[in-house]
Amino acid sequence: MKNVIKDLIKTTIPNQFRTKLRQHYSLYSFFGFKHKCPFCNSNLKSFLPHGLNFPVLKKKEVVAAGFRENVLCPKCGSYDRERLLYLFLIKKTKLLRQQTKLLHVAPEDKLVGLLNNQNNIDYLTADLLRKNVMVNMDITDIQYPDNSFDAIICNHVLEHVPDDQKAMTELFRVLKPNGWAVLQVPISYKLDETFEDESIVKESDKEIFFGQEDHVRIYAADYFERLQSVGFKLEIFDWRTDLKDFGGEKNLFGLNKNEKIFFVTK
Ligand SMILES: [Zn+2]
Repeated sequence: MKNVIKDLIKTTIPNQFRTKLRQHYSLYSFFGFKHKCPFCNSNLKSFLPHGLNFPVLKKKEVVAAGFRENVLCPKCGSYDRERLLYLFLIKKTKLLRQQTKLLHVAPEDKLVGLLNNQNNIDYLTADLLRKNVMVNMDITDIQYPDNSFDAIICNHVLEHVPDDQKAMTELFRVLKPNGWAVLQVPISYKLDETFEDESIVKESDKEIFFGQEDHVRIYAADYFERLQSVGFKLEIFDWRTDLKDFGGEKNLFGLNKNEKIFFVTK
């Protein structure tokens, strides 16, 4: 019977409509009430699995990296880490309520549309190489004066930057006094100290040792000391201590249970 329907669809529906039909069918197959995407409000049975599969990520239990279940929204494509960041920004900061000059480095696609449309946000997106940002910026040499921004979002960037100390110093410099930043990185709590080795340069070796072809280290908990060493005050926020705002015990929003928010202030 299934094949008969398949053949009927093949012979009667033009190709471009078949693609649409397939998308709708696959969305339908994810429909459920266990999870909800805070970006597109879809009710879902589950999110899609996603992530790189390099053994080092699993062996070192690198949080916010590696293959995991329940990551990608089948409707809008949001990632678990974007959903956590979004919820954190709206629940735990005044970003949407206060006049804010915001620097967003390597901006997460789902957030750009949202933040760009906020009247209270003077928004600057930046990236070293990407073209779909407002300015190209090397975060080890930022082209803005001291105390320029009320807030900075710079996630999953520092693990790509060889001189991360310089980058942190620059981010601290351009942040206004009392300003805040979210500086997420993949991190392993199994490592005693951050693993980095300048002699590892080949992409295939970086995949083996760092878990991604363009990473230059795997951070350990000493990441926090690095942040504090340039002057930041650090608060680590664990969403599981605030289940009311973050989707409850059943993890409605499909967040990574081990991911914490690294929130710094100047
Ligand atoms: Zn979604």
